[in-house]
Amino acid sequence: MPLLLRHPSSLEHDTGPGHPERADRIRAIEAELESRGWLDWDVREAPPASEEQLLRVHPPAYVERVREMSARSAPFDLDTPTSPGSYEAALRAAGGACALVEALLGGGERTGFSVLRPPGHHAEPERAMGFCLFATMAIAARHALDALGAERVLVVDWDVHHGNGTNTIFHESTEVLFASIHQYPFWPGTGALGDVGSGAGEGYSFNLPVPAGTGEVAFLSLVEHVVAPAARQYGPDLIMISVGFDAHHEDPLGGLALETGSYGRLARQVRALGDELDAPVGAVLEGGYDLRALADSVAETMGALAGDDPAPKVARPDPLAEAAIAVLGRYWDF
Ligand SMILES: [Zn+2]
Repeated sequence: MPLLLRHPSSLEHDTGPGHPERADRIRAIEAELESRGWLDWDVREAPPASEEQLLRVHPPAYVERVREMSARSAPFDLDTPTSPGSYEAALRAAGGACALVEALLGGGERTGFSVLRPPGHHAEPERAMGFCLFATMAIAARHALDALGAERVLVVDWDVHHGNGTNTIFHESTEVLFASIHQYPFWPGTGALGDVGSGAGEGYSFNLPVPAGTGEVAFLSLVEHVVAPAARQYGPDLIMISVGFDAHHEDPLGGLALETGSYGRLARQVRALGDELDAPVGAVLEGGYDLRALADSVAETMGALAGDDPAPKVARPDPLAEAAIAVLGRYWDF
């Protein structure tokens, strides 16, 4: 049975009035899932991340700083406030993603979703930013690699914003193939197509920028014609998705044009890839700020992850996929 991780501490990270990354996001998702009987998923409470899990990505002084800043409600920057509940919420968000990875790699689960906040893909080892405190996805991937026997992890990130934290943390690594589709130019400014990783990790960062207004066909093509062929060569033991829903056309922050159904089709592509490669597929919540679009798209994603529908096909590579292939073709066969 697919596994959903959640925890009430996600409601106690108070970002203040008017902040888009708010507790109501989780309330909206959970109300929608409740009305659908949680799609018959196995719903469990997320444990807090252990010190060992956190310290694989963040230095001890940074972890202590998050704890101490939260205790006195001190903001890291204008986007990234804290409250006394923030530290626990961030610990559970990271711990939920680690528990998901454990279930996927150890328990024979085929798929699952960690639905907690704050998000994590902007957090760097020593820097909170962009609503993110701990680098949840990177912590989960390192847990898979360092504690659970995985040798290669594919991380696909389709939040509207570039996942700069995950990108930075694995920039020189071959252990994670990081593929991000994001609006560009856009906040946080990173994620140009030419950033392919560095050192030993050159060719293992796929930054797939798309211009404002881009819709579903380009996303599907980037997964089908760029991410999937590379993944077949890479052979991941685990596939993780940083699922942001702020590329939805209703989103107040993003400028892209995905529909609710697009999230299901994208998830079907990745789940089908996981089936083909015998790799489980886990999703971790990142952004998404229109409550209706967010809640419906989460449910759509879960249905697709748990289902058996075949992946949609895009007949010809989109021009954005052609552009990516021109750069990444130095490292992979397309
Ligand atoms: Zn985002």
